[in-house]
Amino acid sequence: MARRPRIVRTLPGLRRALEPYRDAGDTVALVPTMGALHAGHLALVRLARRRADRVVVSIFVNPAQFAPNEDFGTYPRSWGADIKALTETKVDLIWAPSAQVMYPEGFATRIAPEGPAKAGLEDKFRPHFFGGVATVVGKLFAQCRPDIALFGQKDYQQLRVVTQLAKDLDLAVKVIGVPTLREKDGLALSSRNAYLTPGERANAPLLYRVLKATAARIKNGEKIADALDVGRRQIDLAGFILDYLEARHAETLAPIASIADGPVRLLVAAKIGRTRLIDNIGI
Ligand code: AMP
Repeated sequence: MARRPRIVRTLPGLRRALEPYRDAGDTVALVPTMGALHAGHLALVRLARRRADRVVVSIFVNPAQFAPNEDFGTYPRSWGADIKALTETKVDLIWAPSAQVMYPEGFATRIAPEGPAKAGLEDKFRPHFFGGVATVVGKLFAQCRPDIALFGQKDYQQLRVVTQLAKDLDLAVKVIGVPTLREKDGLALSSRNAYLTPGERANAPLLYRVLKATAARIKNGEKIADALDVGRRQIDLAGFILDYLEARHAETLAPIASIADGPVRLLVAAKIGRTRLIDNIGI
């Protein structure tokens, strides 16, 4: 049986745990998560295992990236199952700080990302979100000083924001984007899928089908704006409340009118019942 990873909850404990890795010259990979782990998270961990000598997984449901009306209080938490999964994937260290450790009394510094964080996608509907993400990821990078950090393409704008953050702050970490893991019917794995009723779950893969159909239309020469109109109508008709379906430059996330100006990324966010789903694909 694999050995349970060491679990640390304090900054001095983290420093003590990381020191021997550095002394041995081991490379360190960090996989930041909010727990409620599924196979998508574990794909990040497995790639981390292949790319570095030591794997640190952080589990922290970051209050700073939830608005008061969002699901911080009810966000799924499954500590026991998470530890079991991280034991099986041979993680070395679990960094699980409390909110008090991460944001002690008197905490007064936030990172305010721009560029991809102001693309008019997630930021338009969750204006507080990337400030919270950038601040916590900046802190996780400072705390763990990883050589590489793995993030899912599932949260594509987040991946771009974090990549930019590492570059702009001269952090010696290589950010690696990992392809989205999906259910057999195409639905992107997400901790929030647990909120879906059986009816909503059956309807949810439509988002991925629309992304694929829209990509195919654009590749076949249809104008991007027209293909997006068709896709938006399909999502509306299926009973979703659409936040956005957009085509953007895959690196800058700037709006893009033609496939010739690519690479293009299609990104969607929509609510089904009370659950908000996001997804994206490259063209
Ligand atoms: P979260 O716990 O939701 O903050 O996600 C932690 C990391 O897992 C983020 O980098 C996500 O992008 C990534 N992730 C979430 N879902 C998937 C998925 N279906 N496939 C690959 N990575 C994912």
